Amino acid sequence: MPESTGKESNHLRARQAMVDEQLRRRQITDTRVLEVMGDIPRHRFVSLDQQAEAYTDGPLPIGEGQTISQPYMVALMLQQLSLNGHERVLEIGTGSGYQTALLCRLAKEVYSLEYLPDLANQARRLLQQCGFHNVRIITSDGSLGLPQYAPFDGIVVTAAAPKIPSPLLDQLADGGRLVIPVGTRDQQELLCITKHPDGYTEERSVKCRFVPLRGEKGWTSDG
Ligand code: SAH
Repeated sequence: MPESTGKESNHLRARQAMVDEQLRRRQITDTRVLEVMGDIPRHRFVSLDQQAEAYTDGPLPIGEGQTISQPYMVALMLQQLSLNGHERVLEIGTGSGYQTALLCRLAKEVYSLEYLPDLANQARRLLQQCGFHNVRIITSDGSLGLPQYAPFDGIVVTAAAPKIPSPLLDQLADGGRLVIPVGTRDQQELLCITKHPDGYTEERSVKCRFVPLRGEKGWTSDG
C-alpha cells in the first residue's frame, strides 16, 4: 500500500529498533523469527491512530476489547514453536492477524481461528492485501481446535486458558508443539507442550497476561 516515504522509513527504523532492543537483547535467538519480525509491517495491523505506537514494547488495543500482543511475547511464542518452514500450524485467536502474518512466513500452511467475526473478516482482508495465500482464517470456537485439518505440527493460542484444552493436545502431530498461556484471568504462565509417541513433555517459561480464551474449553462464551 503506498505510504509517504518519510512515514515508511520511520516505521522501518522503529521496527529495526524493536528487533534489536526488545527481542535480541532478551532471549530471542531464532534467526528466522528475528528476520520475519524485522520484515512484517506491524503498523499495518493496528488502527491509524495507533500506528505511531506500533513498535513500542507492549500490547495495543485492536477493538472489541482485544489486544495485539507485545512484540516480545509474539516472538517468544513463535520461537517456542521451533518452526523450519515445512509445518502445518494452527493459531487460536487471529485478532489483528499480525502473528498470523508471521506464521505465514515461518510455516507452510496456516489455519487461524477467531471467535469474533468482525476481527476475522478484517484480518482476512488485510492478509490477502499483504499477499499471504497459505492461510485460512475461520470464525469458530478455537478452544475446540480444528479436528478436520489435524494433526498440526504447531498450535499457538494467543488467549489465556484456565487449563490446557484437551482437543488441542489430541490434534498435535508426533513431535508437534502447543504453546499456550495457562493460569487465572489475571496472570498466566506460558507453557510449551511437546507431543512424543509415548506422551507429552511440558516446559514453563515466562509469566504473562493475555485476554481470556472464550468458548467451550475456555472461560465462558461471553468471557
Ligand atoms: N495474535 C493476536 C492476539 C489477539 S488477542 C494479535 O497479534 O493480534 C486474542 C484473540 O483471541 C482475540 O481476538 C479474541 O477474540 C480471540 N479469542 C478468544 N477466545 C477465542 C476462541 N475460543 N476461539 C478463537 N478465538 C478466540
